[in-house]
Amino acid sequence: MQNNFGTKNPISIPAKAGEKIIQKYHFGSESGVADAENLDSFKNLKNLLTSAHAPQDIDGIRLNIASESKRFRDYSISVIKKFIDSLMFFPNIRKMNMHFPPKRWVKATQHEGNMGKYSIMIDSIFNIGSYADDHDIKLVLENLNSYWWDNEIPDDIHFDDVDWGSKNEAFGMSPEEWIQICEDVNHANVKLCLDSSHVCTYAHRFSSEKREERVMSFLSRPELIDHVHWSDNYLYDLKGRRDSHLLVGDGSLPRNLHQKIKNLDATILLEHYYDESGLIKELDFIEKL
Ligand SMILES: [Zn+2]
Ligand SMILES: [Zn+2]
Repeated sequence: MQNNFGTKNPISIPAKAGEKIIQKYHFGSESGVADAENLDSFKNLKNLLTSAHAPQDIDGIRLNIASESKRFRDYSISVIKKFIDSLMFFPNIRKMNMHFPPKRWVKATQHEGNMGKYSIMIDSIFNIGSYADDHDIKLVLENLNSYWWDNEIPDDIHFDDVDWGSKNEAFGMSPEEWIQICEDVNHANVKLCLDSSHVCTYAHRFSSEKREERVMSFLSRPELIDHVHWSDNYLYDLKGRRDSHLLVGDGSLPRNLHQKIKNLDATILLEHYYDESGLIKELDFIEKL
């Protein structure tokens, strides 16, 4: 018997929580972005995995499906298509979550695919969305972080003093661009994945008075959201510049956001697992929302 704790669709937890816990609660499960290079290690979860996270980088090099370099772009697309092929081993995986490519990735280790172009990204997502459709896998696009840590921005730098124009950034970070991408791709098999912890790292670019409005804007087109990576984070404390992935209820994202997430017609991944007592506490919070 499935218990959704009041959500409309089944809940899943990360594959790293392990077979025992996933089965005990009759949850689905998702493989994480770091697992993408060795899905083989989840053979014991063959029937329990219900979604998978597409690869973001290979050997520390960030893939870029928006790159103007055809060679690097084709390589990046082929890595993701091969990943889709590998999902065929798992009969219950019906959804693949994907990160957006970099707009600008200036790390010393990135020798190719440093820049991304919006229109190229749209075409590449359409291409991957069609390939996923042929494999009966829905593609969902996850709003991305503001990379405070990847850019080594110290906590004592005021949010207003950061020159983001020269920093590592990916597409699909603001709610407006995230939604626009989905509309521009315009493919029935391509929808959105809302990551509430990432939302918080973005909101930290604004004054504390503006943060709640920025956060709630991610829910302005709920019909496009098909999957959620649900976690909490610190909206007003500097710790929220990091992608904290707290238990839902342990941070300071607005209660209204959590209520709206609970009522979405979307599948939900609680994108963290610490221990069973934390999970029980979180499920109680969700049930009472
Ligand atoms: Zn992700
Ligand atoms: Zn996520």
